[in-house]
Amino acid sequence: MYITSDNTLYSYFKHIGFTLLAISLLCLLITLTGGGNINAVTWGLSGISLLTIGSLLVIISSRLPKHVSHQNNGIWQKDATTRGISAWVLGIVLTGFYILLYWFPDTLHGLIAALEPLSQWLRNKPSDQWFLYGFFYTLAVIVMGVHALLKYRNNPYHLIRTCSVIFFQLGFAFLLPGLLLAFNQPEFYFSYFWPLKYDYLFPGTVGYLIDNGQALGVFMVFWGAVLSFLATPVLTYFYGKRWYCSWVCGCGGLAETAGDPYRHLSDKSKKAWQWEVAIIYPILGFVIITTLLLWINSWSGGSLLGDLSGGFSRSYGFFIGSIFSGVVGVGFYPILGNRVWCRFGCPMAAYLGLLQKHLSRFRITTNGGQCISCGNCSTYCEMGIDVRWYAQQGKPIIRSSCVGCGICAHVCPRGVLKLENGPVDGRYNGSSLIQSDSLKILS
Ligand code: SF4
Ligand code: SF4
Repeated sequence: MYITSDNTLYSYFKHIGFTLLAISLLCLLITLTGGGNINAVTWGLSGISLLTIGSLLVIISSRLPKHVSHQNNGIWQKDATTRGISAWVLGIVLTGFYILLYWFPDTLHGLIAALEPLSQWLRNKPSDQWFLYGFFYTLAVIVMGVHALLKYRNNPYHLIRTCSVIFFQLGFAFLLPGLLLAFNQPEFYFSYFWPLKYDYLFPGTVGYLIDNGQALGVFMVFWGAVLSFLATPVLTYFYGKRWYCSWVCGCGGLAETAGDPYRHLSDKSKKAWQWEVAIIYPILGFVIITTLLLWINSWSGGSLLGDLSGGFSRSYGFFIGSIFSGVVGVGFYPILGNRVWCRFGCPMAAYLGLLQKHLSRFRITTNGGQCISCGNCSTYCEMGIDVRWYAQQGKPIIRSSCVGCGICAHVCPRGVLKLENGPVDGRYNGSSLIQSDSLKILS
């Protein structure tokens, strides 16, 4: 039941929010196109401030009046969340932004200049395209993190998980790397490891960190190696890949916040799963081979492989690191769903997935006797897993692609699904309440 005066108030907020958003877009347009005739800092920061306030007003006035059980109402009717015209417009704008950022950064000069005071304050360095990117990325995670906090406000798992991704993005992927630069240390992201941050174990980066960071640089290399080869298997054994993909990773953080309105767009077909397997494991192989070739080349002083390893490295960086993870991975959120990169391209997800499937205590148990086959779980699974198929048969869900976001359990009206860490023995056993055989009583 809603109180009318409250709804009127929320309606005012929403109108004000959209008005501020419209003004912010004008300010940002002027910042981008004004050249030397305007004060980029004033216009740019005004635009960014209004964008943030306007977005928050729209989010709060949209989410708060809705009961927690109504948060997904209308998602299949809205143009923006059903691949309608506005979704395509947003997809093109996002894709275009990535293309400009990666290959034509001069066109973003106004926005880069607008962040100059902030960059100087945080990093003691001039602003550049990557600072601009990190800033907007972090802002998107925070603002849309508020959206996720309100949408899932009755569920402690999602509240803590959302706070976690905001914390790691803001602290470990934005503030800390900036502070390192301010103290003339190498820029380093403690929440990213090989093979996702593929170059962290490349000989060039290892040499750069040790030469420029001295003892801290040695620690950074040590940290990266330990996280990749020791902490990752151990944590995945205990908690599944969710400890990283849904709690720490910046890509996952953006997907779970800014990408959340598009999670239902993931392709659930068998064909999509076949593509997933056919692409993600070769990409993991690609990064492993590239890393090995670079080390062989480095140890042989370049005499053994010539520029072959460099060619591998450049190809990986261009096709996978830039085009796939950035342009396609985020730009196509409104069309293909929010986990395209995590599902089809991320080598870290492939590595974690293999561990989760074969060496982990994690599973989603299903109480099949309670399932009414509504399909909510499958619909909102961002990784395209047909959760209902498992639930109907009382089978546990042990899939390498599952990122443990827990949304399937959240949207289930019958409490069928439970994310659990339990003994490895008997992990594949079905629910004791109902087995698939019991379902054949009518056949
Ligand atoms: S199966 Fe559930 S927990 Fe796993 S990715 Fe899909 S929605 Fe998230
Ligand atoms: S959401 Fe729950 S009740 Fe509906 S199909 Fe999935 S497991 Fe069954």
